[in-house]
Amino acid sequence: MSKRVEADYDVIVCGGGAAGVGAAVGAAKAGAKVCLVEKYAFLGGAATNAQVLAYCGFYQQGEAPVQAVGGVGAEVVAEMQAFGFPAAPHRSETTGNWIIPLDPEILKHALDRLVRRHGIAVKLHTRVAAVTRTARLLEGVTLAGMGGRTRAAAEAFVDASGDANLAMLAGVDFRVGDYENRLQAVTLPMRIGGFDPGRSIDRKALTDAIVAYNRSGRYPIARTDGGIIVRLPGSRDVWWMIVDLAMPDLSSESFTAAEMTARDMAFEYMTLLRDTVPGFERAFLAATGPQIGIRESRHPRSRYEMQAEDVLSGRLREDGIARAAWPIELHGEAGKPVYRPVGGAGYCHVPYDSIRAFGLDNLWYGGRVIGADPDAYGSIRVMGTAFATGEAAGVAAALSAGRERPADPAAVRAQLSRQGALV
Ligand SMILES: Cc1cc2nc3c(=O)[nH]c(=O)nc-3n(C[C@H](O)[C@H](O)[C@H](O)COP(=O)(O)OP(=O)(O)OC[C@H]3O[C@@H](n4cnc5c(N)ncnc54)[C@H](O)[C@@H]3O)c2cc1C
Repeated sequence: MSKRVEADYDVIVCGGGAAGVGAAVGAAKAGAKVCLVEKYAFLGGAATNAQVLAYCGFYQQGEAPVQAVGGVGAEVVAEMQAFGFPAAPHRSETTGNWIIPLDPEILKHALDRLVRRHGIAVKLHTRVAAVTRTARLLEGVTLAGMGGRTRAAAEAFVDASGDANLAMLAGVDFRVGDYENRLQAVTLPMRIGGFDPGRSIDRKALTDAIVAYNRSGRYPIARTDGGIIVRLPGSRDVWWMIVDLAMPDLSSESFTAAEMTARDMAFEYMTLLRDTVPGFERAFLAATGPQIGIRESRHPRSRYEMQAEDVLSGRLREDGIARAAWPIELHGEAGKPVYRPVGGAGYCHVPYDSIRAFGLDNLWYGGRVIGADPDAYGSIRVMGTAFATGEAAGVAAALSAGRERPADPAAVRAQLSRQGALV
């Protein structure tokens, strides 16, 4: 890569979810001048914009939690703990997987503190709206914010937008959904207040209520096991994932229908809870997110697409830059998740070429936009892994900024290890 001295930043990161925060902090720790751009008013991605209130992928499957993600992800967890929030591994009673339940307000604040401490130029309420590029390099982005449009240039870029918006604007090829363009289901996670503090959740009463509801209810519930229902630390609210919808495509019409139908379903299911499950008599819908939870959208072309076999065999590699430890979790049919465990030592490596854009030498991917086939995607998309792939993308971008060639995987791995990441 040739150095362009007029650049405003060494690294621009598009998207402030788990991957974007991982990338921005990772790049800053590697010495880069970093700009982090986020279209919402807060960081956190799906955790804060869609009420996805549990970090998955931080631990391997098993009786005891074995850590798979360190570095920036671990720093975020420590930041929440330092603020008095008991962020800790919890074993899901339905799946047996280890998760870290979250509080969205604590998380927003923890992420603000973290990015400030690392001196990152954060632009909230700002969307990456256009790019300029040459044949092999991205040069700059147009940022659309409340004050209008501005331009920013950088030496290297990270797409951590979840939806591959930066790569799409840059003209990188992408597929939508799986190889037949089928998308995983969307879900509207619900946060429920007013549950009796003296009770625990009666799953038998819940599953009986679902069976009865499904005989004549307007929106039959596919998760007949009651879905993911967890009492959250801190607020003691209940987090419930039960509202699932198939997504035919990415059109505005389909998203409008999904958002409106999902809200209708949420209120219908609240009535069911209040009427039938002990302890929920005074419960109410405290919050849904600013948007529905989108599991899958665009997959931009990368230099390597992780394969299901990489995950199922627990494949380790010399150019591994992150650990993926979450089982393959597929939501092909709304409300009927299917799990397949990670093989080998309980995690597999994400190879360096999965986070490198095809055809552009200074664009890296973090989070759910990295290269993966439809099954491997079911593992790598979770937020713990997104912190790790994001941090790797940020480090690679920082080490490559202003250099003739992109950093090699050994240099990226060495820097990640110095930052406490697990590779
Ligand atoms: C219903 C549901 C349940 C899930 N359950 C879990 C779970 O329990 N645990 C778990 O770990 N994972 C879960 N996942 C998966 C996980 O939430 C996502 O895969 C993960 O958030 C991906 O992280 P990311 O940082 O790549 O993307 P995101 O979290 O989507 O963050 C991308 C960010 O980029 C921003 N952005 C997008 N475009 C632009 C732009 N042009 N300019 C500026 N900003 C932009 C977005 O606003 C967003 O903040 C779930 C997902 C869904 C939908």
